[in-house]
Amino acid sequence: AKSNGRGRAEVFDMALRTELEARAKLEADIRAGLADGQFELHYQPVMSVATGSLRSYEALIRWNHPERGLVPPAGFIPPAEESLLICEIGRWVLGTATRQLAGWIWDDPETHRGVTVSVNISARHLASPSLVDEVRQALHESGLEAARLVLEITETALMDEPTADAHLRDLRALGVTVSLDDFGTGYTSIGQLQKLQVDTLKIDQSFLHADDTPTQALVELMVTAAHAFSLDVVAEGVETREQLDRLADIGCELAQGYYLGRPKPARDTVVQAESLS
Ligand code: C2E
Ligand code: CA
Ligand code: CA
Ligand code: CA
Repeated sequence: AKSNGRGRAEVFDMALRTELEARAKLEADIRAGLADGQFELHYQPVMSVATGSLRSYEALIRWNHPERGLVPPAGFIPPAEESLLICEIGRWVLGTATRQLAGWIWDDPETHRGVTVSVNISARHLASPSLVDEVRQALHESGLEAARLVLEITETALMDEPTADAHLRDLRALGVTVSLDDFGTGYTSIGQLQKLQVDTLKIDQSFLHADDTPTQALVELMVTAAHAFSLDVVAEGVETREQLDRLADIGCELAQGYYLGRPKPARDTVVQAESLS
């Protein structure tokens, strides 16, 4: 029995070591990829439901891995969130997205009048003491006005990070807008919305995709409650004309989804914007 126990311990040791090695390799690959220009942002439009005009671009990261090809965020963001590496990625995204929108505004101010760029900020990065300075620096270096930047955060970030509230207050004092992503999937009740340091709610796409009557009633309830607290609402994951019509009926003002536009590389984004306006 004794030798058996040791056998199991060795197997466990091996598995743990393999996992640690895989993680260390991924981290080294991400660092090298950042230095080597392997990451890029794709942009997906957020549109006005009533007028069909462009309101924002959500920046969504992609990794052009030399061997694995185009890696979606699900393949590297969750492991990066386990370490401070997510802050390095976040810093790169902030710098790139602000520079990109500033460039588009410079090239075509008419098409981009009032258009913002939305950047996803992970919980750990929101908790980082340097985030506020990084945002200030990205705005300064790009020349983008603070009002043109939207930070998308999740409920988990607000619940788990004690410093989140103070950082959000500082960020909003800069003039940056804050959006609560994936709303409805976490534990935030509608009553808590009043106290949160956010400007916009993004209703998670799972609510759009379930088309049973109770879920539709929930979406309407979320929109009504958000408006009562003076929050804007974005419906995520709009894939059909019917879904868009329903959002118009219940007074949801903003929408995002494949029906309106897929995430596209930067070089194709402006072409899409011009066809919309
Ligand atoms: P998210 O922030 O909720 O982003 C929306 C995701 O839904 C994107 O997936 C987008 O491509 C997808 N989507 C948009 N419209 C539709 C639709 O109509 N139908 C369906 N089925 N999907 C739609 P993506 O780009 O794979 O990103 C997945 C997640 O990865 C994001 O979810 C976000 O949590 C994270 N992520 C992406 N980019 C970044 C980043 O730069 N930083 C951080 N921290 N996280 C990021
Ligand atoms: Ca135009
Ligand atoms: Ca998002
Ligand atoms: Ca979302």
